[in-house]
Amino acid sequence: MAEDLRARLKNCLSNDELKLIRAFDVIGDIAIVKLPEPLLPKKHLIGKALMEVQKNVKTVLNQVSPVKGEFRTRELEVIAGENRTETTYRESGCDFKVDLAKAYFSPRLATERLRVARLVKPGEVVVNLFAGVGSYSIIIAKHSQAARIYSIDINPHAFEYMQTNIRINKVGDRVVAIHGDAREVVEKELAGRADRVLMPLPELSRDFFDVALKTLKPTGGVIHFYDYGEEPDIFGPSTAFVRIKAAERGFEATILGARRIRSYATRCYHIVLDVGLKPVG
Ligand code: SAM
Repeated sequence: MAEDLRARLKNCLSNDELKLIRAFDVIGDIAIVKLPEPLLPKKHLIGKALMEVQKNVKTVLNQVSPVKGEFRTRELEVIAGENRTETTYRESGCDFKVDLAKAYFSPRLATERLRVARLVKPGEVVVNLFAGVGSYSIIIAKHSQAARIYSIDINPHAFEYMQTNIRINKVGDRVVAIHGDAREVVEKELAGRADRVLMPLPELSRDFFDVALKTLKPTGGVIHFYDYGEEPDIFGPSTAFVRIKAAERGFEATILGARRIRSYATRCYHIVLDVGLKPVG
């Protein structure tokens, strides 16, 4: 995709500028680019060219801040097309309405979401501690026979979109949207309920691992622990962390799977550990 865009811009940008054109995400009918400083004077031209090579794109947004803050959102500016940040995106047979400025969403996790959904066994109770607009939870509902999927997010906009997405995908009988802080919600209503817990927010996984353990049934279960790992020992520190913390709380941890999801920075990866937990003794 970036190659087509570079070809389109061949006569408008210098060779050095062309080298700065990188891959971009398309979410529904919106494209998101991250233009480096030297390309900013040409942002409208680049946005327009992108719409010409991607005919389905109606809006091009430039990401002007990193993903940040409690809600994991980013600042976006419209550089071409319609003035909006809301779109509908289709993934694994599900439709998601999302406002890219108000709630976190990444199409780059599509493979991982479906992978986890396929691990869920009939009758399981799943708790998603950091659910965003409900993508994991709804894909799990569509692709498994989970009994219930409790789906928590602290961002009121993400929660609203999650409710909408549950309705659009007709999974309201099994996906329960909950607005609030995952720690408080678990303390209040979900302790000891889950067969499987998802923690898709690497920045908070370690702080909330005790919450995930508390969410599991007393007989144990599985936690999908998202983290960052660095070469050369990509999974080692995360594995040591979950083993030690589980043992402190009377669980034995077994690593059922370890996966790199995507590259995050030089030699650093967004990773996931599938951790089986059993009470000791
Ligand atoms: N799982 C989502 C997906 O696949 O699209 C992405 C989730 S996003 C990386 C992390 C989410 O965690 C954000 O929507 C943010 O609002 C939420 N969050 C942050 N702190 C939280 C907390 N203490 N309790 C519940 N949700 C929280």
